[in-house]
Amino acid sequence: MNEQTANPSNEHPRLAEPRTDSGDHVVKAVVFDLGETLVDETGAWGDWADWLHVPRLTLFGALGGVIARGGHHHDVFPLVRPGFDYEAEKRARDAAVMEDFYPDALEALRRLAAKGLAIGIAGNQPAATEAVLHELGLPLAIAASSERWGINKPDPAFFARIIDELGLPAREIAYVGDRIDNDVRPAAAAGMFAVFIRRGPWAFVQSGGNDPAEASATIDSLSELEGILVGRGRPDP
Ligand SMILES: [Mg+2]
Repeated sequence: MNEQTANPSNEHPRLAEPRTDSGDHVVKAVVFDLGETLVDETGAWGDWADWLHVPRLTLFGALGGVIARGGHHHDVFPLVRPGFDYEAEKRARDAAVMEDFYPDALEALRRLAAKGLAIGIAGNQPAATEAVLHELGLPLAIAASSERWGINKPDPAFFARIIDELGLPAREIAYVGDRIDNDVRPAAAAGMFAVFIRRGPWAFVQSGGNDPAEASATIDSLSELEGILVGRGRPDP
């Protein structure tokens, strides 16, 4: 399935001019959330709908309702299929999720690495995801899952672990994510340069289309990162 080909998600009109509130951050590393930050989960959710024999609009709409009321995304399954055993079924979906990187994702990672920034990916993901990340051929300083670490965002310990693994001060690390609750707010609280990428259902529901106050920068495409981070982030020669 190729929803992103028929309706490229990175071509929607910009809702606002890029905003950066950089303070005195000098960024030397950038760590990315995965779902809806690097990976377009439209296909994965569509596959879930097909798997459940539920119309896609029904599942997508029910998911939006779950997000709006602050529930966990797994809450959508018992809504449409009472008694559905998520854990028993999810492994079949994990591989599919990893095939749907947003068109700007891998290029952005490569360009940032070429500019001298350490790059990483760390999200709330099953441990099996890490093997796929290592096969991308990227120089990843971190390729981490919440399952292996035993810590889920937004736990402050998740962001403390990133800081520890990179061996850099928090203020020199950018964290990029699509959720205000799980990504932007805890990264900012940890002292990082928190970047909000406005795509995916959480981003639009949680922000209402506005720039979240907690974000050091708000972007609509990962291609904007180089201009925002590299000017302040090139490591000392
Ligand atoms: Mg995400």
